[in-house]
Amino acid sequence: MQKHIAQLNEAQAAPVLQKDGPMIIIAGAGSGKTRVLTIRIAYLMSLGVDSFNILALTFTNKAAREMKNRIAAIVGNNEAKNLWMGTFHSVFARILRAEADKLGYPSNFTIYDAQDSVRLIGAIIKEMQLDKDIYKPKQVFSRISSYKNSLITVKAYFNNPELQEADAMSKKPRLGEIYQNYVERCFKAGAMDFDDLLLKTNELLARFPDVLSKYQQRFKYILVDEYQDTNHSQYLIVRALSDRFQNICVVGDDAQSIYAFRGANINNILNFQKDYNDVQTYRLEQNYRSTKNIVEAANSIIDKNKTKLDKIVWTNNDDGPKIKVHRSVTDGEEGRFVAGEIWEQKMQNQLDNGKFAILYRTNAQSRAMEDALRKRDIPYRIYGGLSFYQRKEIKDVLCYLRLVINPNDEEALIRVINYPARGIGDTTIERLTVEANERKVSMFTLMENLDKTDIKLNSGTRNKLLDFVVMIKSFQIINETQDAFYLADHVTKKTGLVQELKKDATPEGIARIENIEELLNGIKDFTEGQKEIDGARGALSEFLEDVALATDLDKDTGDDDRVALMTIHLAKGLEFPYVFIVGMEEDLFPSAMSMNTRSELEEERRLFYVALTRAEKQAYLTYAQSRYRWGKLTDSEPSRFIEEITPIYLEYLTQPETNYRYKPMIDIDIFGDVDKSKLRQSKPVSSTPPKWITDNQPKPDTNIRRLKPMGRPSNGQISFDESGLAPGNVVMHERFGKGEILSLEGVGGDKKAEIRFEVGGIKKLLLRFAKLDVI
Ligand code: ATP
Ligand code: MG
Repeated sequence: MQKHIAQLNEAQAAPVLQKDGPMIIIAGAGSGKTRVLTIRIAYLMSLGVDSFNILALTFTNKAAREMKNRIAAIVGNNEAKNLWMGTFHSVFARILRAEADKLGYPSNFTIYDAQDSVRLIGAIIKEMQLDKDIYKPKQVFSRISSYKNSLITVKAYFNNPELQEADAMSKKPRLGEIYQNYVERCFKAGAMDFDDLLLKTNELLARFPDVLSKYQQRFKYILVDEYQDTNHSQYLIVRALSDRFQNICVVGDDAQSIYAFRGANINNILNFQKDYNDVQTYRLEQNYRSTKNIVEAANSIIDKNKTKLDKIVWTNNDDGPKIKVHRSVTDGEEGRFVAGEIWEQKMQNQLDNGKFAILYRTNAQSRAMEDALRKRDIPYRIYGGLSFYQRKEIKDVLCYLRLVINPNDEEALIRVINYPARGIGDTTIERLTVEANERKVSMFTLMENLDKTDIKLNSGTRNKLLDFVVMIKSFQIINETQDAFYLADHVTKKTGLVQELKKDATPEGIARIENIEELLNGIKDFTEGQKEIDGARGALSEFLEDVALATDLDKDTGDDDRVALMTIHLAKGLEFPYVFIVGMEEDLFPSAMSMNTRSELEEERRLFYVALTRAEKQAYLTYAQSRYRWGKLTDSEPSRFIEEITPIYLEYLTQPETNYRYKPMIDIDIFGDVDKSKLRQSKPVSSTPPKWITDNQPKPDTNIRRLKPMGRPSNGQISFDESGLAPGNVVMHERFGKGEILSLEGVGGDKKAEIRFEVGGIKKLLLRFAKLDVI
């Protein structure tokens, strides 16, 4: 243990060595906050604190797992096994299961994901005959979510005229009723949504003093990472649980608070001193992650924020290269620059793909990056898109499994009752929904008891409904004796899901079957793992809980070597040697929606600070002069954040106005012919990566008339209109791959290129149709 403490600097060791009492560590990025938490836990255990008495709350389950592994490496596996570590949601879901009956929930309650919630809200809006253009399900959901996170229950809502007025002012006077219906329907289905996991925990701790006392006794030591991003609901839970022993250690960085839009409250940091007695405050100042250039550039950014705690961050690391800034004409070209640069860095420095991350403000930006990486055969992984478990075919299987555990789960039932088709129509389903609501029972219960009701259904439909009930019950029986893998495999066959997918022989259809296989493999892994731990059958309910709470980062096992693509929000706490921050444009970053108030802009700036401080060795900032947004080509200006960095930390790879990647090397008129005397020397196709325009390259000939891009196809591929192609250009064709242009002929829409492809030989292609990418 001493060895590990000796590896900390003095400022880091101090909070580790303070065994008891409340403490807060406020420090900038990369200063070792997470490391301090980890070592602190190991140290507590070395002092004899039982792992059973320690609770650590992290931003992702993956972070918790990594932390646990490090602790296990110090104190041993057996010791670390009982530590409770995870996100707020996963830790408190577990407690809620144990105590569910007190709140009137079954312990096998389902966890609805956002998709389930939005669908249900949509259905309620429809049933209430409200205008779905005014009551947009997603918006209503996010409003309800913010109520829940502020602990505004339905009752509290109706007791608060101000809230009701505010909703009425925003043309949604019936929002409270939707909220009420939604809560009732979730309850009836034995389901909690994500926000309920926190809200109900608060309710549990507030209403049942004995339960509170039990968990206070248990969690004698509580530690919270990324404390700046806790919301009110999370704050209250931590406050309640730590009230008795006050052994609470929180770490955070106000400069990295980036979830205010989702209710995170920076006051939780600012008020910590007031909440507990004799709080020790620690500050860490030395950054171990990044080069001097990156640390100082990041300091110069965050300096522009008015609302902040004064902090010093410095590093002993090398200066490192300057932050590279690159401008391109289109987002497609931006992608090609990034992919090209990764390629070059990999080759020059013999680096793995995993050393690189591409960070963006919005998920939509990933497409151009993906296209470019694919063309260069650089493996990548996107985090945070549609998660694997939300893919249609996967969710279908999961919904059958959810029904096995909790047949009252209405969202699961509605999803699969007629998939694969069994002749149970929408009208029947709607009718059952209404009847079940009126009788205040679940649809499944109603279906089980159809005979005892006077609902008029023709006997064919009635039988189909009964068959469905019998099928689910047969799965339940299997679940009592077999493990989760056996059951899941049986379900995919018995329900006809796989047969249904086999009808579709397209590559997409095949991919769907493969996904189901992957799911089954995942379940198998899980069951084997469970058996190893406690010899139990791999319990299906635990698997489903894992799935419901998995963030996309959690799936990453880290064993395959890929470039990471993710939004900046998701990158919090992570680090990569090379980081590309793309789409550095006004209205995109900072986002157009965040420029109304100073505080919104400051949150965007903090987000930029988070992005930049992920980089260890080299950061790139890239932007495009135009990009497709919402289906339209939009001009963009460079982000103000680039200018806000003290210029000595920046190196511009592209000069203003001279950065046309496709600048024609010959004087060419779009509708004219090629002036052959000015043709550039033809370049052979080679395997070396293309040279990107840098300061060292000759400035373009000012006599060259630059082509203005006219209508550009969506992914930055050039088409005839803006071609400016010349013999010798190395191009990429969607189907034929890489090739070299040998000659061009024809004019206007008839212009053709003769191209020698690496595979497939020489082809003559009409430029009007051939979408070529210059590489
Ligand atoms: P963030 O604010 O981004 O979450 P953090 O403050 O949690 O950052 P860590 O992730 O704990 O910082 O540490 C950043 C990097 O510095 C890690 O790679 C960590 O291993 C390393 N590091 C931290 N402290 C030391 C130290 N005393 N000696 C050497 N390396 C250290
Ligand atoms: Mg950290």
